[in-house]
Amino acid sequence: MHDRKPSTTTAGDAPKLALFCQECGHTSKLGGDWLLREDDGGYWIVCPDCETTVVSQPVFE
Ligand SMILES: [Zn+2]
Repeated sequence: MHDRKPSTTTAGDAPKLALFCQECGHTSKLGGDWLLREDDGGYWIVCPDCETTVVSQPVFE
């Protein structure tokens, strides 16, 4: 059996993913206080302050 070690990675050094509302400047990391809206078409991340859609993630299937 081969016991190959993975090459050196930068695990633990991943950038923190932050989202930014272009309307009001609200900033929070993904999974923060953003509002999530879902329906059959996908999901949206909505600003809790001004309700602007920050990210839309339509689902195509
Ligand atoms: Zn906003």
